[in-house]
Amino acid sequence: MKKLLYPVLAAALFIIFSCSNKENRTQYGLVIHGGSGNIYKGKYTSEEENAYKVKLMEALTLGDSILNSGGSSLECVEKVINLLEDSPLFNAGKGAVLTNVGTCELDASIMDGRTLNAGAVAGVQRIKNPISLAKTVMTNSRHLLLTGDGAEKFALENEFNLIDNEYFRTKKRYDQWQNSIEKKLKQKEHRTEKDEKLGTVGCAALDLNGNLAAGTSTGGISSKRFGRVGDSPIIGAGTYANNKTCAVSATGTGEYFIRNVAAYDISAKMEYQGKSLNEAAEEVIISKLTELGGSGGIIAIDNKANIVTKFNTKGMFRGSVKNGEMPIVKLYIDE
Ligand code: ASP
Repeated sequence: MKKLLYPVLAAALFIIFSCSNKENRTQYGLVIHGGSGNIYKGKYTSEEENAYKVKLMEALTLGDSILNSGGSSLECVEKVINLLEDSPLFNAGKGAVLTNVGTCELDASIMDGRTLNAGAVAGVQRIKNPISLAKTVMTNSRHLLLTGDGAEKFALENEFNLIDNEYFRTKKRYDQWQNSIEKKLKQKEHRTEKDEKLGTVGCAALDLNGNLAAGTSTGGISSKRFGRVGDSPIIGAGTYANNKTCAVSATGTGEYFIRNVAAYDISAKMEYQGKSLNEAAEEVIISKLTELGGSGGIIAIDNKANIVTKFNTKGMFRGSVKNGEMPIVKLYIDE
């Protein structure tokens, strides 16, 4: 009997030890978005749907390889957003929407959840990858947010190239802009939020060292007045990260995210009210933002690698991956 007891005890101890070890094992994960809004089944051809899915999958694969090889969440956020900024599919970097005077004005921000340090740029017109400039503002200046010409002067001093504003303008965005002007002239009224062309990009990540980071990059809202700044470069509104709680990136009608201090509110609900990430996001997006009349959503990851995507629109281009799991990409609400 004793002979049997020892091996059985040893096996049980081994199983208990390996299970608890598995739970404690550091997890990494990342979640991305490519904008929310009037995105519904039937709006896109299967080729278009596929193009979005392939690009989001490419971004997840890149982020996964950075985090898997021990890279930081900050590096992951920057590189993943660079890839989405370079794609004309999204309203960030190339493919950005046009302002009322036909220019592209770009906003971006990034935040390090370990140090609570952050960097942002707003209204830049000649920076190919605004998220990288935002990161450089964070690391190479004593400021947090630089705008317009000042941001571009800072970029030059930090070895960025200035490019022509034409680079960002795609035929699709130009046609959208033309249509919106014609519509405005015909209707002689302001456009409603339903008409807005959304498509901001964002990423939130947790690395193997337990550090969180988030970033957001956008061309803003289609036909916005030149000089308008939305939530994407505003820390606490469009972007927030704190190792104590979570990392968040938002997309939607920026004015409402600023008024709700939406990204920070999610973190604060977790920190001060002990809410889970899902509960906090539900309250902020589905209750508070919606009640105020705002539309859009967030992607977020907490310090235990729980991932949440939440939006009050018909769809949001989104995807996520965690270590050891298959990446997931979704477009519509009922997926
Ligand atoms: N939130 C962005 C802005 O208001 C737009 C978007 O997410 O599509 O500038």
